[in-house]
Amino acid sequence: MYLKLSVIAALVAVATAAPSTTTTAAATPSSVAAPIIPLPPFSGTLVGAYPTQDKIAPTDTPLVKQWLAELNLTSVATWPVVPFTAGGDPQNPKAIPEAACDWTETNCINKDITTCPLGVWGLTYDDGPTEFSGKLYDFLDTTDQKATLFYIGSNVVENPALARRACGAGHQIAVHTWSHNPSTSLTNEQFIAEIKYTEMAIKELCGFTPRYFRPPYGDIDDRIRGLLWAMGYTSVIWDYDTNDWMMAPGGTRTMAQVDAAFAQWIAVAPTDKTGHVTLEHELYANTVAAAIENLPKIQATWKAMPVSACINDAHPYHETNITLATMNGAKAGISTGNTTASATVSVGGATATSSAGSSTASGSADHSTSAGTVSNVVSSSVTVMAAAAAVALGQMLF
Ligand SMILES: [Zn+2]
Repeated sequence: MYLKLSVIAALVAVATAAPSTTTTAAATPSSVAAPIIPLPPFSGTLVGAYPTQDKIAPTDTPLVKQWLAELNLTSVATWPVVPFTAGGDPQNPKAIPEAACDWTETNCINKDITTCPLGVWGLTYDDGPTEFSGKLYDFLDTTDQKATLFYIGSNVVENPALARRACGAGHQIAVHTWSHNPSTSLTNEQFIAEIKYTEMAIKELCGFTPRYFRPPYGDIDDRIRGLLWAMGYTSVIWDYDTNDWMMAPGGTRTMAQVDAAFAQWIAVAPTDKTGHVTLEHELYANTVAAAIENLPKIQATWKAMPVSACINDAHPYHETNITLATMNGAKAGISTGNTTASATVSVGGATATSSAGSSTASGSADHSTSAGTVSNVVSSSVTVMAAAAAVALGQMLF
């Protein structure tokens, strides 16, 4: 399905010689509004050399070797890799010390974002893009609602048009690994490969590089955090879990139970001490249905926004000419004068360039993001969902 490096050069030559402004429209549903974040050209076929979908990313490719050589891992904690059991689940309980600050084992957080400020709901959907995502994105569009989407790299390459739609719409795109395996069961090299290949797919399709990450299953310790920091990432967990993943076909959770969870959170909202970051999924038809069912209730109770917006990070991508809207007033767009940045995409050493990137939007000069802003949120993040942490990883599907 994906092209080998040997043919990339030819494709790049074609793309360069015949830049087209029509490919974006062809890859995007016709009913969708024009992107507010301009997208790079896309032929409909990814040019990068990507790993097998839904399998742990390989570590022996030239690309991974290059990425490893570029990273300084001297400060990364050396906590042991948590073994998989014979059944494929992570060891439970994990044989790692408390000092590893493992969230699922001890609720320990270390510079992770788990809440938004009081009155604000950090709206997040995991595991996309999937065949069900279009329905969710349509609904979000009806109220111009933006969300944080934690994307699985394998799903990005499987659903490139949906990924591009969400990128262009101004949702915050973030990384959720390549294969959705528990992070602490991956070696340093495997985890880096999982992040970088997902980054690569998002960069090829959307022209930017995320700076935020959510661990599948909330599975994170200080070794994984150290790797993330070395790659420029901030981790995001959650304090409210809908457990909607249990609505998988044949699963045990009902729409009524998810609705009841929201009803309970809304009932106690007047006594909230902090805002929230939720965990929902764009994974199944019924998780999307639950998301659509409950979003109006969220919007009526809190100010709903992406996580980057609630911590006032206007630049959740490495490409700082791209701005996303924030709570303190930054407006989404791409800075004028940097139009070529969105039209030149380097994919694993191959560069696809087009002159079609002439679209500009009103960029904001807001650069108010600061470590202080983020750490204030983090330091107040004492609300950790104990129930989720108590669930054995081996019992969790998503
Ligand atoms: Zn997930």
